[in-house]
Amino acid sequence: MITASRLTLARKRRGLTVTRLSQLAGLTTRRLTDFESGKATPSPASLTALAAALEFPESFFFADEIAELTADVASFRALSKMTASQREIALSNGRLARTLQDWVAQRFRLPAPDVPSLTSFSRCRSTDEQIPLPGEDTGAEPPAEHAAELVRARWGLGNAPIPNMLHLLEAHGVRAFSLSRDCAEVDAFSFWDRGTPFVLLNTAKTGERGRFDAAHELGHLVLHGEEQMPHGPAAEAEAHRFAAALLMPSADVVARAPQNPATSWILQAKRHWRVAAMALAHRLHELGLSTEWQYRTHCVELSRLGYRKAEPGGVQRETSQVLGKVFSALRSEGIRPSDIARDLHLRPADLNDLIFGLVVTAQTGGRQSTATSARPQLTVVS
Ligand SMILES: [Zn+2]
Repeated sequence: MITASRLTLARKRRGLTVTRLSQLAGLTTRRLTDFESGKATPSPASLTALAAALEFPESFFFADEIAELTADVASFRALSKMTASQREIALSNGRLARTLQDWVAQRFRLPAPDVPSLTSFSRCRSTDEQIPLPGEDTGAEPPAEHAAELVRARWGLGNAPIPNMLHLLEAHGVRAFSLSRDCAEVDAFSFWDRGTPFVLLNTAKTGERGRFDAAHELGHLVLHGEEQMPHGPAAEAEAHRFAAALLMPSADVVARAPQNPATSWILQAKRHWRVAAMALAHRLHELGLSTEWQYRTHCVELSRLGYRKAEPGGVQRETSQVLGKVFSALRSEGIRPSDIARDLHLRPADLNDLIFGLVVTAQTGGRQSTATSARPQLTVVS
């Protein structure tokens, strides 16, 4: 007996429709549908054909059920513009990341989640600290701006720039993983899973974009509920404002920016906050430090200099510190990435896709090691 839902998961991970997979595996669509619903069990030959077409080890289909992850709990931006297949690939990445996270959590003590949520802020707000709820118009500063200040205060960041956004998230218990290269349309997304916040990031963007995406997803986790992620332009604008406020605190920007900052000032100052030039230009305007006309001028000049699509001379792409430590600790115990991939019933290449490409996979041909019993025992490290 296979775990039928794993067949669907593997198909979605590869971005395949039922029709396409049945063609690849030489089955009728009816037959495949029956396998996926659990109405029928594939013969050994059918299973081999399916596993080959899906590029998953056959053992993947016999492992335990993996909890569902649906689009309504994930923070997808522009849900309507994203193709269904891209969304499914991203969500499947999220489900596989959860199994990897469970695997790691059984062997390592990881930072406890410490991501404040505005819901809990608002529940315990006192009369002297009124925190507006999202969408509540009080005429005061936008809630996202205020939420970013609260996070900075709670995490003891003051107004200093954030040297590494991804490490900061991980230090506060956010589990960060990377999106596979076959879902390039998805910048990032986040979700809560049994009280643990997850962020999945696209690794093809510039370092500055990656930092902003990570801060944006933190905004969703902080501002938007655990039960359901609101989608749409209002939620996106809030997460965006949160990211800008977190990376470029208004007090620091106001203190540093001259009157009518020139484009050359932006190009210098962006290094201080490690943000994209365009993001800083927008922040100046958002804070009333440049006029609409100046902002447009900045955009035109920055575009001309190549800062719309790229970030010349930009910062390095951030990567996971937790996963780096985990994999090097495992390596020192003699546990190879291929052993971990085998435990998770994944190809080493698919494991590598989830962990920012941190391990170089020597063999990706799917050759399975037979030395299962010789595997060393893992120890718990902090
Ligand atoms: Zn978003």
